[in-house]
Amino acid sequence: MLKNYDIRKIKGFHSYTVKELAALFRITPRAVQGMLTKGLKKIDNKRPILIRGDDFIEYERQRRKKRRSKSDSLNLIYCVACKDHVIPHNKMVLIVKSGKMLGGGKEKITIKAKCPECKNIINRFGSVNELDELNKIFQMVPTLDDLSNKKRASKSY
Ligand SMILES: [Zn+2]
Repeated sequence: MLKNYDIRKIKGFHSYTVKELAALFRITPRAVQGMLTKGLKKIDNKRPILIRGDDFIEYERQRRKKRRSKSDSLNLIYCVACKDHVIPHNKMVLIVKSGKMLGGGKEKITIKAKCPECKNIINRFGSVNELDELNKIFQMVPTLDDLSNKKRASKSY
């Protein structure tokens, strides 16, 4: 899986060398060079190459957008704090059935999880007919506390 670069590490008005960016994200300078060929902007053609923080953030946002396909709507939940779609922490979710019906007679559910970045609780609404798919992707846990604790979570839910 491709990794998401933590753009909070980047200062918008700062310029970075290829080496600095690589060190910041623990990737190779080559990987950064690769980004330059895929749309990451550099300040000018002078050496050393400098990249504005803003441009890196923009590049990363665009890259995430492109990568988000339809199937990701099941995998990802939007985190309000991080302003980004994230994969739930530990790949664990808590399903809350609402008892309310959506159009088509499907029961509405809330999928709760923890953001892997900021550890806040994140939510999304869905319908019961997603449960089979969700079961394949995630471990379902019985309480919110279990989302934090890998060992205590039971698979019997
Ligand atoms: Zn978050």
